[in-house]
Amino acid sequence: MELDKMDENDWKYHGEGNKSLVVSHVQHARVLRLLKYSTEDAENSHKTTEQAFRHIQNIVDYCQNVMKPLLGEKFVHNGEAVKLPLDFVRQLSLKVQQERPESRCDKVMDTLSGCALCLPNLTQLSSCCCCSREHRPPLCIEIKPKCGFLPASRDITKDIKKKVCRFCMHQHFKLANGKWKRLSHYCPLDLFSGNKQRMSLAIKHLIEEPQNNFNIFKGGECIYTCNDDADVFQDLDELAQHLRPYFLPSGSLLSRQQSSKVVLNELIQVIVSALLSTWDCPRSGQLRKTHLSEGRVTCEASLLHRDLLRNGNHCLPKDCVLDKILSTQMLDNLDIEGLSPLFKRVEQHLQMFPKERCRLQMDGPYNASFLEKVQNCPAEDDGSIEYAVGKVHQYRVAMTAKDCSIMVAIATCGEDDGLDQSLEIQPMKPRFTCSVSILDLDPKPYESISHQSRLDYKIVNHYLRRTQPDN
Ligand code: ATP
Ligand code: ZN
Ligand code: MG
Ligand code: MG
Repeated sequence: MELDKMDENDWKYHGEGNKSLVVSHVQHARVLRLLKYSTEDAENSHKTTEQAFRHIQNIVDYCQNVMKPLLGEKFVHNGEAVKLPLDFVRQLSLKVQQERPESRCDKVMDTLSGCALCLPNLTQLSSCCCCSREHRPPLCIEIKPKCGFLPASRDITKDIKKKVCRFCMHQHFKLANGKWKRLSHYCPLDLFSGNKQRMSLAIKHLIEEPQNNFNIFKGGECIYTCNDDADVFQDLDELAQHLRPYFLPSGSLLSRQQSSKVVLNELIQVIVSALLSTWDCPRSGQLRKTHLSEGRVTCEASLLHRDLLRNGNHCLPKDCVLDKILSTQMLDNLDIEGLSPLFKRVEQHLQMFPKERCRLQMDGPYNASFLEKVQNCPAEDDGSIEYAVGKVHQYRVAMTAKDCSIMVAIATCGEDDGLDQSLEIQPMKPRFTCSVSILDLDPKPYESISHQSRLDYKIVNHYLRRTQPDN
């Protein structure tokens, strides 16, 4: 990519989240991730190029020096901060505007700083040797799994938090506030259970109501995403038609309805095995008895049958992507309720000694010494500022892991064009190559902790009022 010869016609709208807008290159497997800000946010719109570049470099450092060692080298791509010509960015912004979903247009793309993050396009399996011979475009499934465990902290004041997971409680809050029109039946605890049946149902629920947690890309194009107004069954049928060539032999005599079911089921099985794969050591088969006691792995709001919940083996293979994400999420072991007093201790300390902000690395730099503070925080509170800072850092790292996305890229492989009848009778033969990555690993601002505390209070109280109005 030659930064001085950038042409907006080489780039197209790819997607966006709350913080950034992503465009992809039409030929090369690259994306640019540009920051967004709300129009009222005067501070950000006045950021100088140097400040904006520093901000993006901070994201890169955090990804590389903190999240990568925690989540695993093989899953994380840290990308590169780049400075783009302002004219290119302005043209690009005009070009993508009409493609943006209305619900995201409360924020605008940063066209003033010219800074962006350049990343590999993870919806395209570029390094796989067999795809070049393959005419079928790769599929990519994006899952934003959210928090996969129930907190066990002694500081929790509402018992319900130990029974119903945050995602399931949050659903009711979002529905009441008009964020979504329908409840999602997805429960993260099912996805992180390691039990294939529970995982399959969790993914089925994601497909049925994707919200912000599920997307499918084909050849880099998004073909399935949240659609609040749509007729879900129509959408599912259309999705199945897209997937049919990947999962059913061309001569299949199944009816459209039957084949939809088979195809979606096959997709789910491929995703489950990719999520449980331990890429380096496929034969080691080591299971981690998910650092959780029995009571903390099922959510009372999950729709799954009680027997399935009880009998499920709650094991994730060590070092699979879900294990890595879950153990990083679990660095938050005090819950926001236990963390709040420590956050206040830090606040007070910084008020008295403002210069300490730098030594304690409250806003970075995100280097080996920051990681050291995260990993070597004392287990018990000794009353020190170091303990409080260590817990605050751990909490922020856990927040990042609760908000990241998993990308499962799937390409059909094999000498033959994939699916002939002979493969049908050898179900064990792998027909796909998968690669798994993790994205959206931004540091969460230190200041957002007080917001988290208020939000937690609102979500839990709303849930209690809805479900137990008499208490
Ligand atoms: P959130 O609101 O979840 O915090 P965000 O604003 O931080 O989102 P990202 O999640 O990083 O933004 O990016 C938005 C979307 O762009 C992603 O959900 C994904 O679909 C797509 N995307 C981001 N990075 C890549 C990449 N490297 N390759 C392919 N697609 C990407
Ligand atoms: Zn749940
Ligand atoms: Mg995201
Ligand atoms: Mg994000």
